[in-house]
Amino acid sequence: MILKFKASILFIIPFYFGLIDAQIIHNQKCGIPPEESNHSRNWGYGYNDLLDDIEIWQQSQYVNIDSIGRTVQGRAIWELTISEDPSSITHKRIYIHARTHPGEEEAFWVTDEIINFLLADTPEASFIRSNTIFHIVPMHNPDGVELGYSRENANGLDIESGWDDNVLEPEVSVLQNRFLELSLAIPNPIQVALNMHSAYACKRYFVYHHENGTSSYFTDLEKDFISGIQHYYPDGIEDWDYFVSWSSNTPDQYPESWWWFNYAENVMALTYEDMNCSNAGNYNITAEAIVRGVCDYLGINLAGINDQKEIPSAYALKQNYPNPFNPLTTIDVQLKQSGGNIRLSIVDISGNEVKVLANNYFLAGVKSFQWDSKDRNGKSVPSGVYFYHLETSSFKTSKKMILIK
Ligand SMILES: [Zn+2]
Repeated sequence: MILKFKASILFIIPFYFGLIDAQIIHNQKCGIPPEESNHSRNWGYGYNDLLDDIEIWQQSQYVNIDSIGRTVQGRAIWELTISEDPSSITHKRIYIHARTHPGEEEAFWVTDEIINFLLADTPEASFIRSNTIFHIVPMHNPDGVELGYSRENANGLDIESGWDDNVLEPEVSVLQNRFLELSLAIPNPIQVALNMHSAYACKRYFVYHHENGTSSYFTDLEKDFISGIQHYYPDGIEDWDYFVSWSSNTPDQYPESWWWFNYAENVMALTYEDMNCSNAGNYNITAEAIVRGVCDYLGINLAGINDQKEIPSAYALKQNYPNPFNPLTTIDVQLKQSGGNIRLSIVDISGNEVKVLANNYFLAGVKSFQWDSKDRNGKSVPSGVYFYHLETSSFKTSKKMILIK
């Protein structure tokens, strides 16, 4: 977000952009080093992927999805509103937008897990949905995503800046108008506004604003907010003072600047930076920490709900259901601890690995995985006996299942 050069200067000399970008990027919080930027056109998750996900999210009764405006190239900017009562005048209101910088796709993956957590069929998610209204823009800059830009919109401008310009870029204007709409004339304005990025620093952190650029009261709130989230992921999220900005003045070009000048201490507006490197991951743990911390900050007490959440006393691999099956079956895994890697794979009768259903970190609890009887290439497998293997650092087991077509 902090650019040493105005984006318009970069636009005048696009030929040298790569070189300048390389110089800037090592001094700033966002982005990836140029040597790692051999990405696909849309950085692996494009606008069509978003449209596919929107179709899936829309199946939940707790989400409304609308376009809030259009980009330079005319793409819709989509916003999810998640709540059991989106017209409530008492629910706490939170705004999250991601992927202003197209090359920071990890910011999307965290946001995606925030959506999954909020839409889940759990007592906690239900409690959160009945006390909050989350507005989420998963892809603020779809033109830049489709053009394969790392930071710019279709006009070649970094729309993380220019929030104070007289003539705003369309994507900036769309968000500002929405922020105003949700902050003026309603009894429950936005109280938390998160701006999701991912950093070349390869750390997860919030960009803290120094009191020289805000106020001492606001910095107390910031410390509470950031530490409150970190509390749920102490090994993953850096301390509140890991990245301090605005220490000599109040800049005026950023989204958080806009929030500060218009709403000051009334809105906790912060940039979050996820990892932007090969160590990235644990998006679900990060997302859950953020949501829990936000709830704590807003006085929504999940503690009573947490006590009811059953943490299994042992690892276990359950029998799949239905079994026999065709073509879909579900496998439940009991996880005693959060954070350890688990690997769940399907193996055929000859011992060939057909598909890996999971190879990642998960939170403690019961986690369900589905297999659609397709192999790793998306081809349907023949009828027969298959085995599913679970491997954790401390536990290893298999079970048998039967596909009958
Ligand atoms: Zn960024």
